[in-house]
Amino acid sequence: MTMEFTDRVTRVEPSATLAISALATELENDGVDVVDLSVGEPDFPTPENVVQAGKDAMDAGHTGYTTSAGILELREAIADKLADDGLDHSTDEIIVTPGAKQALYEIVSALVQDGDEVVLLDPAWVSYEAMVKMAGGDLTRVDLSDSDFQLEPALDDLEAAVSDETDLLIVNSPSNPTGAVYSDEALEGVRDLAVEHDVTVISDEIYKEITYGVEPTSLGTLEGMADRTITVNGFSKAYSMTGWRLGYFAGPEELIDQAGKLHSHSVSSAVNFVQHAGIEALENTDTAVDQMVQAFRERRDLVVDLLEEHDVDVAVPEGAFYMMLPVADDDQEWCEGALEDAHVATVPGSAFGTPGYARISYAASEERLREGIERLAEEGYL
Ligand code: PLP
Repeated sequence: MTMEFTDRVTRVEPSATLAISALATELENDGVDVVDLSVGEPDFPTPENVVQAGKDAMDAGHTGYTTSAGILELREAIADKLADDGLDHSTDEIIVTPGAKQALYEIVSALVQDGDEVVLLDPAWVSYEAMVKMAGGDLTRVDLSDSDFQLEPALDDLEAAVSDETDLLIVNSPSNPTGAVYSDEALEGVRDLAVEHDVTVISDEIYKEITYGVEPTSLGTLEGMADRTITVNGFSKAYSMTGWRLGYFAGPEELIDQAGKLHSHSVSSAVNFVQHAGIEALENTDTAVDQMVQAFRERRDLVVDLLEEHDVDVAVPEGAFYMMLPVADDDQEWCEGALEDAHVATVPGSAFGTPGYARISYAASEERLREGIERLAEEGYL
């Protein structure tokens, strides 16, 4: 039976990351000094030249509607960036959105129908589940927690989960919340299954620019994947532009056209002058991005070392700015306790489909990271 849209929305939980942030803000409003390790945004300012490009574009009058797919100059710059990653897309195969989240929502809503089967790799970013449920799809989840969140050792499990009934598979490497970067062998395993069972794949590459000594492969570059992969990326993380709301998706024209209909009848486009700033971000921020990535790498190493001093071993992330801390089975209770007692905010692993962990974001200064871990240890949470 077809489910009403309101019923589908009822099935969805509010965002756990936002819930923890709200709790942390409540405490802060009461004057408590909270070490917030729950946030999914870089603690660096948007690069100065990008801000200036946005201001210049506003001054130049770029404040009206743009074409629904986004201004041609930005789509050209995106096509060049994708080509650098080995992905061949014309500007007609690219749609600019107000953030990668909107890109994902449009793709999932346009492609997933009632009863469609969607496979997720757990732990998975919180909104995938919600988007699939709102579209009426059913989830099959493959747990990567026994393999240090790496996909390669779990390919047999993935094989068992993917069948001719599978309609969509979502891959996110580097991953939020684990920071894992999937190996080429793992991605080839995904490719083999996608081709065998004729599955469309979303490759969410929003953390692709934030890696530590590894070069993540874009799924769409693998043989057999170009006509079944939709690549999603955005400006929030690599260029510290979370509040600007700018992202995009690119893929084979048939799939893009389908999602594009939803796009043109809903958001229309991203903000005009923001799109102009996006061109500057793609073309002139190499140094700023390198410096930010280096800072994240040093913080990752610091957190891993500090945890080791407390005999806590973590799967060392190779990308993004998150890691999964093994905690009590009831991770929800652990996170609430850590916030109330130690005043340290983290996100329960169960929000990502993997209980028994808390996600730490190291998008915080070294001083705050030290303080947070010290407090967790003092209050008996490590
Ligand atoms: N995909 C993943 C895996 C994310 O972690 C996020 C944001 O946290 C997004 C997509 C959405 O990013 P944006 O800010 O561009 O909407």
